Amino acid sequence: MTETPDDDLKPSFRSDVSVELVKHAASDTDVLWAARVSTAGEQSLDELKKDPERSKGLINYLMRDRHGSPFEHNSMTFFISAPIFVFREFMRHRVGWSYNEESGRYRRLQPVFYVPGEDRRLVQEGRPGKYVFVPGTQEQHDLTARVMEESYRQAYASYQEMLAAGVAREVARSVLPVGLFSSMYATCNARSLMHFLGLRTQHEEAKVPSFPQREIEMVGERMEEQWARLMPLTHAAFNANGRVAP
Ligand SMILES: Cc1cc2nc3c(=O)[nH]c(=O)nc-3n(C[C@H](O)[C@H](O)[C@H](O)COP(=O)(O)OP(=O)(O)OC[C@H]3O[C@@H](n4cnc5c(N)ncnc54)[C@H](O)[C@@H]3O)c2cc1C
Repeated sequence: MTETPDDDLKPSFRSDVSVELVKHAASDTDVLWAARVSTAGEQSLDELKKDPERSKGLINYLMRDRHGSPFEHNSMTFFISAPIFVFREFMRHRVGWSYNEESGRYRRLQPVFYVPGEDRRLVQEGRPGKYVFVPGTQEQHDLTARVMEESYRQAYASYQEMLAAGVAREVARSVLPVGLFSSMYATCNARSLMHFLGLRTQHEEAKVPSFPQREIEMVGERMEEQWARLMPLTHAAFNANGRVAP
């Protein structure tokens, strides 16, 4: 099958990521409900909401003593658009996550590419395991944007040329770089999300610091904002206990 080149498919460039909470069944009450079966047997959700101070105390105790399973009885599905290099890191998180990503075999990939924004620290100083990122100069930013855009345009033109000549999408996509945007649904629970956030965000309250790549951290921050609204007591207990997943 040959594909006609589509002149509307002009490369576009983004410096941000999108994270949308598309489906959820997640609340602090789910944690209490699961935990209290240990001592009280089955309880109604209304019963669980009666004593907010006790609820807060129980969630904090579970987090502190790493009783993790009560944090699994909930579900959040995010629709995420981010560069392929972010997804490559993201999908290393195997436990408590489900993924479905757009296909480069079944559809023509759209020419949306990542270019770091002006606020992205561009320069790494120090050695692996002990380094910091510092802001780049204006020249470094201009060079990065120009070189990336040129390279993306050339790669996408080659992709389209092969499609127009009848080469299969699954073969032609080989020329596309990891800065290409992809999209996926990612479903998790609060426990697996906390494990992800502990590793993929930097935070002043973290007991065990991590040094994630900024772009996956941007995704993590957006997921965390939305999760914190659904489960404020669990989120507060996560921070209060050093952002270590129970
Ligand atoms: C800053 C940073 C730098 C990184 N650099 C690299 C790198 O250079 N190269 C690279 O390959 N990866 C790298 N990674 C990925 C990292 O090694 C992990 O694969 C990723 O963070 C997922 O963590 P996880 O395995 O704990 O998560 P999950 O896969 O979600 O697992 C959750 C937990 O389940 C348990 N578990 C899961 N699978 C097993 C198993 N097979 N056996 C025993 N216990 C298991 C562990 O307790 C684990 O912590 C990096 C990650 C970070 C955060």
